[in-house]
Amino acid sequence: MGALRTVALVILGISTFIFIALFGRLPLFRKTPVGFLHRTLWIYIPNGISFIDSRLLGGRVVWLWKRSGSYVLNENHPLVLIFFLSLLFIGEYIFLPPAWPRLSSSHKPWVLAVVIIPYLLLYKCVVTKSFITSQNHEEEMKRYPYDRALFHPGNHCSTCRFLKPARSKHCSICRACVSRHDHHCVWLMNCVGAQNYPYFLLLLLSLSVLLIYGSVLGYLLLCQTLEQYVSLDVREEMRESWITHINVWTSVITLDPKIGAVFLLMLMTAPLAVAFLVYHTYLVWAGMTTNETSKWSDWKEDVLDGFVYKANRNEVFGLSSPSDWPVHSDQILVTDNEPPRGEYVLASTSNQIAHQGRPDAPVDVRWRRLRSMRDVDNIYDMGFWLNLRDAMGFSVQ
Ligand SMILES: [Zn+2]
Ligand SMILES: [Zn+2]
Repeated sequence: MGALRTVALVILGISTFIFIALFGRLPLFRKTPVGFLHRTLWIYIPNGISFIDSRLLGGRVVWLWKRSGSYVLNENHPLVLIFFLSLLFIGEYIFLPPAWPRLSSSHKPWVLAVVIIPYLLLYKCVVTKSFITSQNHEEEMKRYPYDRALFHPGNHCSTCRFLKPARSKHCSICRACVSRHDHHCVWLMNCVGAQNYPYFLLLLLSLSVLLIYGSVLGYLLLCQTLEQYVSLDVREEMRESWITHINVWTSVITLDPKIGAVFLLMLMTAPLAVAFLVYHTYLVWAGMTTNETSKWSDWKEDVLDGFVYKANRNEVFGLSSPSDWPVHSDQILVTDNEPPRGEYVLASTSNQIAHQGRPDAPVDVRWRRLRSMRDVDNIYDMGFWLNLRDAMGFSVQ
């Protein structure tokens, strides 16, 4: 019992740790304990260690850590991918041989499909690159219009030396500009972008199905073991007492250790896969990429602080830029302490006022101070189904 509880706690601890390390950065958790634990993990603890190290050891630990840490975090290395693949492969290697003869023939084809499909999708996610090259740059410039809130025309990538298409981002690990950049995924050793996002979504779905279906099968097999080894009297007693319930299940898992251990692992990692899937479904619903969530949350903070002014581009400049994109917006947003006044000039590639008019000039009343993000248009949000079509790589124009 003690050993089993330790294993369960260790697996639970690892899942929670991975969840906080990966998800804690999200704006959603900014003011929650998850966000605090994430900052503790990535900022407070490293700062504390660095302080102690510089006082006691002359900074040697930090020097060593920076050498290995920068390799782990900044280089495109396969360690996490190998860990992920081993977990998947070893789990199946332990679970399948004892489970297979006990499965009914109706389950067998499904089990095969559920086991094989994640490997194929994982392979596609890793090898499919969404890089913008000089060959596809012209096409990529047409993929999305600039929304002039998150993405402005006229910005160059200083490394790739071309104009940055809307929704793209340069990845310093991949050393390339990535189309519809979502995030650099250390698990995949690759950036998730326009070309592999469909495989990525399907991978999350297939892993969730694998872990949930695997947990259910594991449970059913353990129930068989229970019926086989546990007498009717004890089973009756289980209904009344939680302690007996836990004790009997502990002995069942010990009697069937291979199925039991992998069942526990699947049960505890399934919420992680489902959380990723739910989060990315939310992003599709909201018409955002992971990269854009942080840009939107910066806007949100500026709006709440009262620094954002909005006007209609057509009204202010007589400029409207129609496109084939399903959602049109003429909004123009600027961030400043003061509303634009007099002969102001807007910076063309950002949301700043490049030059304010004379302070005594009248305020331009066509600009409205924003109080809520509901007043900001996201042209990449076309409604769930069109967003999904776009995320899956189909044309929406
Ligand atoms: Zn670039
Ligand atoms: Zn990358």
